[in-house]
Amino acid sequence: MLSAIKVEKTQKPRPRPDQNNLGFGQYFSDHMFVMDYTEGKGWHDPRIIPYSPITLDPSAMVFHYGQAIFEGLKAYKTKDGRILLFRPEKNMERVNSTNDRMCIPQIDTGLAVEAIKAVVEVDQDWVPQAEGTSLYIRPFIIATDPFLGVRPSLTYKFMIILSPVGAYYPEGINPVKIYVEPTYVRTVKGGVGYAKTSGNYAASLKAQVEAKQKGYTQVLWLDGVDRKYIEEVGTMNVFFKINGEVVTPSLEGSILPGITRDSTIALLKHWGVPITERKIDIQELYDAHAKGTLDEAFGTGTAAVISPIGELNWGGRIIQINDGRIGELSARIYNAITGIQSGEAEDIFGWTMEVR
Ligand SMILES: *Cc1c(COP(=O)(O)O)cnc(C)c1O
Repeated sequence: MLSAIKVEKTQKPRPRPDQNNLGFGQYFSDHMFVMDYTEGKGWHDPRIIPYSPITLDPSAMVFHYGQAIFEGLKAYKTKDGRILLFRPEKNMERVNSTNDRMCIPQIDTGLAVEAIKAVVEVDQDWVPQAEGTSLYIRPFIIATDPFLGVRPSLTYKFMIILSPVGAYYPEGINPVKIYVEPTYVRTVKGGVGYAKTSGNYAASLKAQVEAKQKGYTQVLWLDGVDRKYIEEVGTMNVFFKINGEVVTPSLEGSILPGITRDSTIALLKHWGVPITERKIDIQELYDAHAKGTLDEAFGTGTAAVISPIGELNWGGRIIQINDGRIGELSARIYNAITGIQSGEAEDIFGWTMEVR
């Protein structure tokens, strides 16, 4: 498969950013992967070319009707110089689940994983080595037909770009303040909530902006029908430890099935910590807090891995969780997952894949 991907190397390498000041998503590497889809021909011309702007017709369908999907994963450099990907096949399976919902043609997941490996290998010296840094990998697909009628596009571009990113928490893991969103909803069952499609984020911005103005980092979404069942936080899935048991909302179509969520559940099962996927009423959390049994709350996602929740504001009722400190279990999960990702802990689940 690898041999099918053509490689054109850049003549003008880009300046390297300072490894200790990367931030998130600000710098892009020297190369990118591109593959086109044409109705009747399928996906074709997989290639790695110098990172550069692309030209699209102003009538390209992605600009008008938002037929666009994306993924996010990371490559890590180990102390002995290897480069590891974390469960990339899971991301590519999710591309196809998202594609199915968005009427985008299926991709060959094997070729897509090879494409990720190939472009990361070409830009291997862009994988940062400083503690806590990684190379963020952003695969995405856009509809490119120059056409204003509403229907699925007949042509697409699948691309992969790479961005060296810093430690998500430069001063260690800080619990975040979360605003329980009372007005807006992210999605409903039957909608596109489980799909990693760009429009979900466009729809979420207003709530996020308003929560920020109130001093909160992110919003916690409630379900769109009863407006009381917990769904997820911004870009993360969410877990709670109540009375020694861990609970997380079950996947019922409106929640993004996170790979960090899946890995967290697998770890908890492996450790023998009780974990249940079910509906969670926001009132139940507040009741548990009142009884003193809400031990920990945390979000899971590729960007931060584990993000402890230190405070919740639900309609003006503010609760502090674990005195605003990172919980013991949250820290244990964070250390276990980042240990496997960085090659420092034994990969007991076979989650990592070596690029080189
Ligand atoms: C990507 C994403 C997540 C986290 O998924 P991971 O695979 O763990 O990175 C959670 N919620 C939403 C809305 C997302 O887009």
